[in-house]
Amino acid sequence: FENAVPMAAFPNHYEDSRHAAARLFSAVESDEKSEGEQAEQKGVILDRSEPWGILIDHVTFNYPGEDRAALKDVQLAIPAGSKTAVVGPSGSGKSTLLQLLLKVYRADTGNIHINGRPVTEIDEESLWMGTKALLQDQHFFYGTVRENLQLAGDGLTDDQMKEALAHVHLADFSLDDQVLEKGGNLSGGEKQRLAVARGLLKEGRLWLLDEPTSSVDVLTEKKIYDHLFKEAENDTVILVSHRLTGLEQMDRIIVMEQGKIVETGTYEELMAKQGYFYEMKQIEKSVFSA
Ligand code: ATP
Repeated sequence: FENAVPMAAFPNHYEDSRHAAARLFSAVESDEKSEGEQAEQKGVILDRSEPWGILIDHVTFNYPGEDRAALKDVQLAIPAGSKTAVVGPSGSGKSTLLQLLLKVYRADTGNIHINGRPVTEIDEESLWMGTKALLQDQHFFYGTVRENLQLAGDGLTDDQMKEALAHVHLADFSLDDQVLEKGGNLSGGEKQRLAVARGLLKEGRLWLLDEPTSSVDVLTEKKIYDHLFKEAENDTVILVSHRLTGLEQMDRIIVMEQGKIVETGTYEELMAKQGYFYEMKQIEKSVFSA
């Protein structure tokens, strides 16, 4: 930001914030959906002032053209207001699960229900605006920090945005600073923190966290997480995590392997059981103490 690029040097790619938010879905979906589905404009609008409960009902999913199922008969009930961690080796299907929850892809068999409504019937904008989705691939547009934060919702004040920036340790950013397309002038950690700030500003009470601070230093990451979990105290949280630390506070840990849920329980239960989670924990310990 020190060498902020003058606005005139770039075409104005900034779009209406709602339109841009909707694009976050349609960009991925346009390849996957039939014409009939694309024509489907509006669906069920969920009340985003309350935390949402989720039922993943025997969901099986293959990426288009792939033989191997990324999710196999996944069955999981997530009560409103609960905190769930999803862990498992790389490629086990953790991120895919979140993509299906956000309707980026559709289950081949089974369905996902949010507050009792099939996700396939829920209006995309309602789903997007009601979810604090902090996924690995964050989206930024050419425009100011303010404009990028305004994707979180209507009527946000500068003070609210500055407060959110302070919570993610970006208090030195100005709301007038310019962000390049895809956040090209930000570091990986700055992009992640700006995305978390945007999540904090959203009204929704479903948090989908897919390693949102993996490029942030450990101390700052801990402070951000402490704040996130305080904010999310009564909200539904699904946290995808590679690291197996700090999971004692979760209501439940889901262990995935090759697209299947292989173990569920609290941290204490899974450690006592000495199964997959326990083994992963031993490996993590041996790697970090080496
Ligand atoms: P990681 O911990 O590395 O992020 P993950 O547990 O989140 O992994 P997924 O990204 O959900 O795993 O991937 C599950 C499976 O689906 C993997 O076999 C992966 O190669 C495959 N996969 C993921 N994205 C795609 C895609 N866009 N097209 C085809 N296959 C994919």
